[in-house]
Amino acid sequence: MIRNPVPWPNGAKCAACFTLDMDAESLIYLAHPQQAHSMVSAASMLRYGPDVALPRILDTYRHYGIRQTFFVPGWCAERYPYAVEAMVREGHEVSAHGYLHEHPNEQSDADERYWLLRSLTAVRSVTGLPSAGWRAPLYRFSHRSAELLLDAGVAYDASLMGDDIAYLIDTPRGPLLELPSHWGMDDWPPFMHSSELDFEMPIQSAARAWEAWWEEFEAMWEFGGLWVPVWHPFLSGRLARWRHTHRMIGKMLDQGQVWFAPMRDIAAHVRRCIENGTWAPRTEQPLTLPRAVAGRETATATRHSEDSRQ
Ligand SMILES: [Zn+2]
Repeated sequence: MIRNPVPWPNGAKCAACFTLDMDAESLIYLAHPQQAHSMVSAASMLRYGPDVALPRILDTYRHYGIRQTFFVPGWCAERYPYAVEAMVREGHEVSAHGYLHEHPNEQSDADERYWLLRSLTAVRSVTGLPSAGWRAPLYRFSHRSAELLLDAGVAYDASLMGDDIAYLIDTPRGPLLELPSHWGMDDWPPFMHSSELDFEMPIQSAARAWEAWWEEFEAMWEFGGLWVPVWHPFLSGRLARWRHTHRMIGKMLDQGQVWFAPMRDIAAHVRRCIENGTWAPRTEQPLTLPRAVAGRETATATRHSEDSRQ
């Protein structure tokens, strides 16, 4: 069902990487800059991520001997350096995820460039390493983002949803490697409920949420795909949920032939396969839609005037 599966290392049937986006209170400051200081309960929910969930997440990874990827906004790296230092100390990848979780596709050209570079610089100041990758906050990758990332020397993007495996985005500056995921792998739909943050989903049990993620895993395992959960420590790191995940990682390892690796390693492997000719990627172009569809406004106006006659 996947026409050109990547040859994963050591005959693995799929590649897997838990990507955990440690957004912490950046979400409050972005959405409610004037009231942020008084949103104590919402802040406590978000701060659970770096302070309570993260140590248990790192314990699980150490228990199973796997290294994974964290995406961290620059402001969060500066606010929680001890959390980011712990990720790096244990061999995990830390890549940038905006500065204050701002949305690139709502910014001007100059602003997008400024905040991207500020985000990369802030994360590097704590990790001591350049970001190998990038995930746009809330997947809000812009029509400029691919070229800006290439200019900044970022090796891969993880914001898009265009395939089950790696692919290339063509740009005038050359190709950008995309390691995609999708909303079905995100933990906001099953777990996020906060009236103050304007996202109120009916909360599911961990087992129910994992039913869907396991189906995704089985399909990727069967057909040679790339399994990338897009999770958040403050949501999936909650006690019952992480207990369930701890067990499920064991189940995945028991099944075997799964390559758990940080996204930077998956990106490097894919690049090697392209360079040595063992795999040919699909290339997507162009990313940008036209600004408007010609004739749409006229058609809408005509329809409205017909409606009003009825
Ligand atoms: Zn985020």
